[in-house]
Amino acid sequence: MRFINRDPKKITEESSTDKLRAVKDDVVQCIQCELHKTRTNVVVGTGNHDADIMIVGEAPGEEEDKLAMPFVGPAGNVLSELLASIGLKREDIYICNTVKCRPPMNADPTDEQKNECSSYLTRQIEAIQPKVIVCLGNHATKSIMELFGCIDKIQPISKIHGQTFSPDPLFQDTSRRMGEFAMADIKIMPLYHPAAQLHNATLGPTLRSDFKKLKEAIEVAPHKITSVSQPPLFPN
Ligand code: URA
Repeated sequence: MRFINRDPKKITEESSTDKLRAVKDDVVQCIQCELHKTRTNVVVGTGNHDADIMIVGEAPGEEEDKLAMPFVGPAGNVLSELLASIGLKREDIYICNTVKCRPPMNADPTDEQKNECSSYLTRQIEAIQPKVIVCLGNHATKSIMELFGCIDKIQPISKIHGQTFSPDPLFQDTSRRMGEFAMADIKIMPLYHPAAQLHNATLGPTLRSDFKKLKEAIEVAPHKITSVSQPPLFPN
């Protein structure tokens, strides 16, 4: 837990909004991989800074790159419908991507690009401390499972969609010893990427039934241990 001291008379705990703003400031200046050369905008993340659910996609597409917002194109419309089917709005959750800049021609992000971006994703998770991280598709699943030490559990999304995973016991142990109880208790849920439904409409019912499992996972997840004041919403 980091503390900041803006008022010399008062030590203040840094809020999730402060932490996310710091991530945004760093991403805007990032030139760690070649994607910075072709981006129009960075796409950091948007939504509720104290969300129970954090949704992690793959990488921004054309619309996202233009508008600096994740999931605002066709896949985003499918995502909004799936959220609505379990009574959630986009404002209830936090949405971001594994990679914060658009790969040209919507190419798959490379391992190098994902690795260069992974510290931003880690800081977003630490700021929000969600109960459940939803990984949309293979790229997000691999990145998140690696961050939480679950490398041996990684399988193709067609095999593990809709299942719930806990961080590796060693990760949990270390997190608890550092007082980061919320990190140890996070659940990881890989789901098909909404774009998969655009390519293959027969996946629609599977996605809807997996989103119902997400709703159940949230209902049984332990309450957050850290509490922060309800932060204002701001794009990115
Ligand atoms: N697909 C993604 O994975 N992320 C977006 O932001 C948009 C489409």
